[in-house]
Amino acid sequence: MLLYDSLTRQKVELPPPPGPIRMYVCGPTVYQRIHIGNARPYIVFLWMKRWLEEQGYDVKLVENITDINDKIYAAAAHRKMGSAELAAQATRWYIEDTDDLGLGRPDVEPLATETIPEIVALIEELVERGFAYESSGDVYYRVGAFPDYGRLSGADPDEMVAQEPSDLKEDPRDFALWKANKAHEDTSWDSPWGLGRPGWHIECSAMAEKCFGPEFELHGGGLDLRFPHHENEIAQSQGAGRPFAHMWAHNGMLQLDQEKMSKSLGNIVSLREVLDAYGPGAILVYFLGAHWRSPIDYSDVVMEQARSQFRGFAEALLSPPQSRPSATWDAFAATLDDDFNTPEALAILHEWAASGQSSLLGRALRLFGIVSGPPRVPPDEVRRLVEERHEARMAGDFETADRLRQEIESLGWRVKDELVGPVVFPRT
Ligand SMILES: [Zn+2]
Repeated sequence: MLLYDSLTRQKVELPPPPGPIRMYVCGPTVYQRIHIGNARPYIVFLWMKRWLEEQGYDVKLVENITDINDKIYAAAAHRKMGSAELAAQATRWYIEDTDDLGLGRPDVEPLATETIPEIVALIEELVERGFAYESSGDVYYRVGAFPDYGRLSGADPDEMVAQEPSDLKEDPRDFALWKANKAHEDTSWDSPWGLGRPGWHIECSAMAEKCFGPEFELHGGGLDLRFPHHENEIAQSQGAGRPFAHMWAHNGMLQLDQEKMSKSLGNIVSLREVLDAYGPGAILVYFLGAHWRSPIDYSDVVMEQARSQFRGFAEALLSPPQSRPSATWDAFAATLDDDFNTPEALAILHEWAASGQSSLLGRALRLFGIVSGPPRVPPDEVRRLVEERHEARMAGDFETADRLRQEIESLGWRVKDELVGPVVFPRT
């Protein structure tokens, strides 16, 4: 399987099955319900895991939860609540909302708060090796000591602006690994440099190593994390002598009205709102329609289209199978094996729906989590009611037909009258 690697800027052949393929993906910072754009890496990397497993790989997916961060302190102060309490609440929202996508969960979801000893030990190693220095209770990474800095993002280290201006730094490019406790921060941990808390970037270096050891195959996350977050993760882990990630996969950003959806811009729609309005099937079809590396536009119009595509698939699954010629499973597999090209795979799903290939369609829809469980066949009682209703309609007795339709719906099924006759499918 070929996958585009952001580090070497080309498609790279994965090692042959069974691998292993160890994937570390940056998850959300938890301080409010996640937005629909945050759902993209969650969905894309779970899909990749499912596809690799389908192809015989041994895959382990780790997706962290950032529960110590400047944004959490700010949001907690705004809500007049404790930062640990807010992070715990927002973690529950994240789990609830992503659970409702129906894709299952990553294998491990580490928390920064559960990784403090490993974070402190890694910072100590960097200080010993000359890659970091203490300054008034803060510890900073010495960017000038790492010649490869900027390789991932392609930026010239000398042109990089200061990430967080501070007089405590030797060089404006340096970034914080440990931050001394401030008056407005209501959580802190003990360290060789006094009470404080970790910086965001070192949390991921330590969590990835805690789960996988010093190296792993793939690191993923949103394109907006490539600089500085991922550049800094590489500098930290490789500065400490670890090989770290072999390749990097960055998903494209979700855009609302042509602008990146972000909490700081305030133009956000939560995953919860979209789940309530359109349901998980429509969300998954929506994301399938764009290549994982491309930007994707969000609007009610595209969500309506995705929902009608989803309903079309659900109906096609319940239509009588036909044997008109169409694309093979191998053709479908080839689209995913070439840099996980889901828009092409989606085109094949439509072809299967149109040509009555319900078993191939069902297999692919289950792979993407769009339908779950074995194919649903209406029970005999529902079939009998559908038949009676059809006869009533043919006889012009629409009152009886309407009553029977309500009875069918009360049993959890819907009936639709097509040219070929009535078609029945689950209500949800
Ligand atoms: Zn991260």
